[in-house]
Amino acid sequence: MIDIKSLFENEIEKLLIDNGFQKFRSKQVVSWLKKGVDSFSEMNNIPKQLKEFLCENCYISSAKIERKLVSAIDGTVKYLFSFNDGECVESVVMKYHHGYSICISTQVGCKMGCTFCATGKSGYSRNLTPSEMICQIESAQKDLGVRISNIVLMGMGEPLDNYDNVVRFLKLISSEDSLNVGMRHITLSTCGVVPKIYELADLGLQLTLSVSLHAPTDEVRSETMPINKAYNISELLKACRYYINKTNRRISFEYAMIDGVNDTDECATILASKLKGMLCHVNLIPVNSVKGTGFVKSKIDRQQSFIDILSKRGVTATVRRTLGSDINASCGQLRRSYKEGGI
Ligand code: SAH
Ligand code: SF4
Repeated sequence: MIDIKSLFENEIEKLLIDNGFQKFRSKQVVSWLKKGVDSFSEMNNIPKQLKEFLCENCYISSAKIERKLVSAIDGTVKYLFSFNDGECVESVVMKYHHGYSICISTQVGCKMGCTFCATGKSGYSRNLTPSEMICQIESAQKDLGVRISNIVLMGMGEPLDNYDNVVRFLKLISSEDSLNVGMRHITLSTCGVVPKIYELADLGLQLTLSVSLHAPTDEVRSETMPINKAYNISELLKACRYYINKTNRRISFEYAMIDGVNDTDECATILASKLKGMLCHVNLIPVNSVKGTGFVKSKIDRQQSFIDILSKRGVTATVRRTLGSDINASCGQLRRSYKEGGI
């Protein structure tokens, strides 16, 4: 079966022409898909024969809301969506002064096994298709009755471990065939799959790359992020410099502060020396304590100390605003408790 929502309009056009249908029908089909219909039978301006052809050969992906949590503090909404095969992922919608932003998932689970991460702890099931990434956004927009202007690939999964589907999603979502969100409004977060950072850089897309660094030395990073054993910090930073040169875009480094693990002044000093002179920004995040990890967030004074040490050396850093703290907005935790029979 063909996943029709993962196709570009010219591909749908080719499919129809190859099967004896008129070229202009593709425009009608695409406009129905953009309206968010769930079935081909709703496409009431296309001929019966075409409907039958589509029903027999294609399917329309959907993301059904299984759970929805709304933060009483800031209105952040967290969804647990299920797909056609029953697999579930999480997405989070946040409201900022400039509009709505959605954090979507790219895989069901994740293979990367970072020790502080709820998604990493629950293992990996499968990649998401481009249409399943689009459906998370469409379902949230429909449910909330708003237009989402910013997309962050920072939910469950490692986007660069599902490279082809993610790139197709990025190209689709930024085209008129789909939601038409500009690349500059999209951020992709990676744990550091180095060869794919080079590939992405060579595509020259104007999206923001966010790199989950979380440690200044290989010793500390390899302990919490197994990917570091495959691609160490110096290889990762080299790839980041390449990305910056190719795209002229500033990279954000994510740094989750964990008490006694990566939050000493010495860590900040080493981090500053490695990032000095780079077109980058450091986002400090208090680590979310996830059941079973044993990690606790840093004492509050550590954040300011980090900011001071980094900024003295010319590296800008801010503490990321925590949204939805009452609903465990960081991804992986809702699905985990759902699967364990919780919420
Ligand atoms: N796999 C990608 C994107 C998804 S994870 C990546 O790792 O970048 C999204 C972000 O959440 C990453 O920066 C990740 O390091 C961070 N994260 C995971 N678990 C966390 C936790 N317990 N507390 C704070 N940040 C966490
Ligand atoms: Fe995967 Fe990212 Fe979690 Fe690491 S932090 S396990 S890469 S989702």
